Amino acid sequence: ARADRAAMAEPAVASRPPADVETDDCLREYRHLFSPDILAGQVAFITGGGSGIGFRIAEIFMRHGCRTVIASRNLQRTSEASQKLVAATGQQCLPLCIDVRQPQTIASAVDEALKEFKRIDILINGAAGNFLCPASALSFNAFKTVIDIDTIGTFNTSKVLFEKYFRDHGGVIVNITATLSYRGQALQVHAGTAKAAIDAMTRHLAVEWGPNNIRVNSLAPGPITGTEGYRRLGGKFAEDARQFDTIPLHRAGNKTEIAHSTLYLASPLSSYVTGTTLVVDGGSWLTSANDFPALLGIASSSAK
Ligand code: NAP
Repeated sequence: ARADRAAMAEPAVASRPPADVETDDCLREYRHLFSPDILAGQVAFITGGGSGIGFRIAEIFMRHGCRTVIASRNLQRTSEASQKLVAATGQQCLPLCIDVRQPQTIASAVDEALKEFKRIDILINGAAGNFLCPASALSFNAFKTVIDIDTIGTFNTSKVLFEKYFRDHGGVIVNITATLSYRGQALQVHAGTAKAAIDAMTRHLAVEWGPNNIRVNSLAPGPITGTEGYRRLGGKFAEDARQFDTIPLHRAGNKTEIAHSTLYLASPLSSYVTGTTLVVDGGSWLTSANDFPALLGIASSSAK
């Protein structure tokens, strides 16, 4: 019985979360699970790489021998992030300014990245915007903005990378999506619709670009601690309300767990995987509550 209790207190090795830090800082310590040189010599272009999940993906990739380009609208944010990443990993990281809604800014950034590194092997489409809002209160413009950034931004970036490099050299694309549309999550018609369209895009592009040796997959995170998404979308509230008890793994995930699954999809470990969505959510969407009044409470308190 004592052994049973000990086993309950500590998750089995296969579902034990790696350590993480809540802020946009690098990990204080890191133990490699994958081969440390699995991405050696490669270059990853990561949109939204200056913060949250994208920042941790950049760090974990760099810890596996990859050089990175991190790109978003706020150059100060990507520059500061780049300094932290270089200091922690000793790899090169080029911070750039793009708005994924404007193809010309992406094209200039990709040109600059190719000038610096001479190659790009991996594209991570992580840039996104989100907030909680009931459809009845969502302005036409707010809905459109989320589609513009998430869906059209993902297409714009993928197409620029295809034309400038992947068509002739192959490559791998990982689109960061979400599980919101699987159960029609309340207050998320904008983001859920945008991410569902990206999952469709993943399959279309996997089919069309497979012959060019380009793999395209989606990764759909569940609730991930230490992110803007989690703070805004009421993670703290859910924690207090013991909502995580309903998640099959009884906890939120962390950024390193998303980065590890992204590393799998970007690496030769998944060399025959294309056109699919990897859900990384502790089973959350299967059991998640669609608690409209509770979510409305979070939406109004975060708007204050
Ligand atoms: P985050 O830190 O806010 O990441 C979003 C990033 O996108 C920021 O770095 C932002 O940088 C960039 N961005 C926004 N608009 C842009 C634009 N027009 N052009 C270029 N870059 C733009 O949030 P996160 O929570 O880590 O989310 C990362 C990804 O995971 C997103 O795709 C999100 O939908 C997905 N996700 C997160 C969770 C979660 O629990 N956190 C759950 C499911 C899915 P700038 O402001 O500098 O542009």
